[in-house]
Amino acid sequence: MTVIDLRSDTVTQPSAGMREAMASAALGDDVYGEDPSVNKLESEMALRLGFTKALFVPTGTMSNLLALMAHCARGDEYIVGQKAHTYMYEGGGAAVLGSIQPQPLDVQADGSLDLQQVAAAIKPDDFHFARTRLLALENTMQGKVLPPEYLAAASRLTREHGLALHLDGARLYNAAVNLGVDAGDITRHFDSVSVCLSKGLGAPVGSVLCGTADLIGKARRLRKMLGGGMRQAGQLAAAGLYALDNQVERLADDHANAQLLAEGLRAAGYEVEPVQTNMVYAQVNGEAEALKHFAQERGIKISAAPRLRLVTHMDVSRSQIEQTIEVFSAFSHQ
Ligand SMILES: *Cc1c(COP(=O)(O)O)cnc(C)c1O
Repeated sequence: MTVIDLRSDTVTQPSAGMREAMASAALGDDVYGEDPSVNKLESEMALRLGFTKALFVPTGTMSNLLALMAHCARGDEYIVGQKAHTYMYEGGGAAVLGSIQPQPLDVQADGSLDLQQVAAAIKPDDFHFARTRLLALENTMQGKVLPPEYLAAASRLTREHGLALHLDGARLYNAAVNLGVDAGDITRHFDSVSVCLSKGLGAPVGSVLCGTADLIGKARRLRKMLGGGMRQAGQLAAAGLYALDNQVERLADDHANAQLLAEGLRAAGYEVEPVQTNMVYAQVNGEAEALKHFAQERGIKISAAPRLRLVTHMDVSRSQIEQTIEVFSAFSHQ
């Protein structure tokens, strides 16, 4: 039985074409700056997203941490969403390793932070306070796409107050495909951007941080300090390059599958949040564990959570979505 894994878009296996690209990648020692495939990925990514420099790193968590530490010094502060990955899901790394204080704010229903609240949270220049240096946004935020005019307004606000603006763009390309724009149209509002290759893009490992030459220079130094200097990493970079060239447009299929799944689950009686990209949130309340086991026995892997997140990706086909709807429907009608 083929398992349908809807827990995350991180579970994808490299496609046949990607494996070939990895096998034939030109390699060198990247700590010496000599890996042609890593260098190509970095320059390609910087070019596509409108930055001077980029840095290949093992994970999105490291990429965000490098950005926070490169923008902020000890005793500085970043404004961030309560449910943002950079605040909630990165082990408190900014505080633990960077001595950077987070100023978390509630995330609004559309995934944004209220810019009036952001402005009010910026501390005056006074030695009682930490120095507010950075606003960190996330796009997509739990599958939601931040509106382009919101990004422009956030950019204006941060510039007015002398703050930098960072984007955790783990799923940047899902946002771009949803809006039908170049990813660069989203990233041009930001001073730095972190992009995951290992989510919907389907690469096995890796993220890329983009920014100015100065910022990426600092990040490169910090990457080595944190143990993220990799040697013949070109095989992984080649997977990323392959993904950028071949596996971006197909994200639209994942989005269509997520819509189909949401409609099917609603028809089966589930309460499902509106879907924009590849994430479906269904309210299963006290049934989470029972549903997980019911699905597991029928070849479907899901998490157990009252607000259940189902994520579509390249290793889940349309017919597997139909199969999933049948299983969820059988559960709700038993
Ligand atoms: C996955 C993810 C990251 C990075 O996670 P890693 O597992 O460290 O690569 C960062 N931000 C968001 C929003 C993510 O979903």
